[in-house]
Amino acid sequence: MSTMAHDMSSTDHAVMMAQETNNPETNSNTESDMSSPTHDHAAMLAKQNNLNTAHDHNDHSHTEEPTTHTAEHPSKVSIDWLSMILIIFVIAGIIYFIRSIQGKDLLEYTIIKRIAKSKVYPGILQVPTFILFGFIIYYFFFGSFFYANNPGSILAWTLWWPLVPLTFILFGRMWCVACPLPIIGDFIQKFTNPTRKAGHFLKTYGIWIMDGMFIVITLFDRLYGMVDTPWLSGLIFVLLLLGVIAISLRYERRTFCKHLCFLGGVSGNYSMLSSLSLESKDKSVCNSCNVKACYFGSGKAPPCPYSNVIPTKEGMRNCTLCADCIKNCPNDNIAIRIRSIASELWSHVRVSFSESFFAKLMVGIVIIQNIGMLAIWFDLQNKIMKYGISQKPAIILLYFSAIAIPLLLMTISSYFSNRLQTTPLSTKTNFAAFGYAFIPIDVACHIAHNLYHLLSEGKQIFGAFIGLFSGKIIYTGSITSSTTISTLQYAFIILGSLGTLYVAYRIARAKEQTTLSAWKILLPHALLLIIIIIVNIYLFSLPMAHRG
Ligand code: SF4
Ligand code: SF4
Repeated sequence: MSTMAHDMSSTDHAVMMAQETNNPETNSNTESDMSSPTHDHAAMLAKQNNLNTAHDHNDHSHTEEPTTHTAEHPSKVSIDWLSMILIIFVIAGIIYFIRSIQGKDLLEYTIIKRIAKSKVYPGILQVPTFILFGFIIYYFFFGSFFYANNPGSILAWTLWWPLVPLTFILFGRMWCVACPLPIIGDFIQKFTNPTRKAGHFLKTYGIWIMDGMFIVITLFDRLYGMVDTPWLSGLIFVLLLLGVIAISLRYERRTFCKHLCFLGGVSGNYSMLSSLSLESKDKSVCNSCNVKACYFGSGKAPPCPYSNVIPTKEGMRNCTLCADCIKNCPNDNIAIRIRSIASELWSHVRVSFSESFFAKLMVGIVIIQNIGMLAIWFDLQNKIMKYGISQKPAIILLYFSAIAIPLLLMTISSYFSNRLQTTPLSTKTNFAAFGYAFIPIDVACHIAHNLYHLLSEGKQIFGAFIGLFSGKIIYTGSITSSTTISTLQYAFIILGSLGTLYVAYRIARAKEQTTLSAWKILLPHALLLIIIIIVNIYLFSLPMAHRG
């Protein structure tokens, strides 16, 4: 969740492996400085081995060694510029093609309409993911203690986490329809049938709880290596499951997913990029409809799990394309239209400060996600520790600085942008409006970071699928060259940056009468974007560690 929130990370162990085995230059430079973290790391590994002994429910011995990565780690990042231009042209071509067919209703295609109305949809997506996540959770708790030997960890963090943001761009929040957590909540509600609705507190402060959970979980990962420690990953999953169960017992529909799930917060924001929009075909038909079966349900399907009434539904933040409303609508009055990618970011009816804040918060979290895989993370820790601060407080300090600095700079750029507006309102209003513009660069950096894991550790994924049955990972290594990976990463960053600039321009243009005045209020945000791009490009140019 870069995306579920968090993969957000990388482990101290992984960083050390990169330093010790892959980047002799950095290693030699930092050898003496590294003594404390190395010591802590050794202690951490020893502690993990001890925990492993206590924890190993299988016949794995505590002497088990982590699989060694064999993928290439360049000390310098090289880029194939020709391929990069080609990739950018192909993606730009896809975006242009989508623009050219915007407005088209996919339900006009018989096959898509049949699938949407079929009783097997969305179960056909839910059953395989439910089974796969069953295996993943089993291995989190009963598999190897080492990431690189654990099929559950590899499938969750090396495969699922990089792919899930791509699904948000393509299909909006569709992942949530297949997510195993709410399926358990839905099952419980079949027996308990709760009718309590989300109240003012959840509606107003739910997103801030999501923000808080996101921060806590990503920080927890930085401190304790949650992603790289299978049983800690499993623990977070179980805590989420308990949350889903508790809320599903008391509240109707998917209240947890809509108001409390931190991944739901990320997917809600990212799904605003999607080129699909589920909406009413003809508002006048909805206006004269008395049954509102989209909201209340019918014998054909359950009511909308996200409590949408189609004619008043705003955007795709809270729509999983589950198609229940399509099955329920007695007037066949629902369309799934093609829209321009990211158009919801500048055309949404209601600007929400909390949604916008989440988008800006992600800028810092994505930066932490990257830094955590680099030697620079230890260098910064060492610098802080020289002032007598121990390792964990140093990590906490670094973490909150990485979040706070972009937010502070964004507040400053919003202040100046607001001052330059023809009709100034407030810094907060400007901050909220332009926050949505940072979603493309968030997603791009998230994908770029995780592409590295997906491709450079790609053979492990095949190994992990086989390992689901054998319990062992027999393949490791990269599925493509480091040059290809870097080229793809930079292509995504360039596209994300252009996307952010374009969305910011559209937001500015909606506020101002002329192009010139729009550029004026855009300027402070554009300057900040340039800084963010430079930071990200620099971080992606450094050798990165593998997970595990
Ligand atoms: S989408 Fe269908 S069920 Fe919902 S209000 Fe419109 S016509 Fe009625
Ligand atoms: S609006 Fe329709 S497709 Fe979207 S979540 Fe509700 S029922 Fe599912």
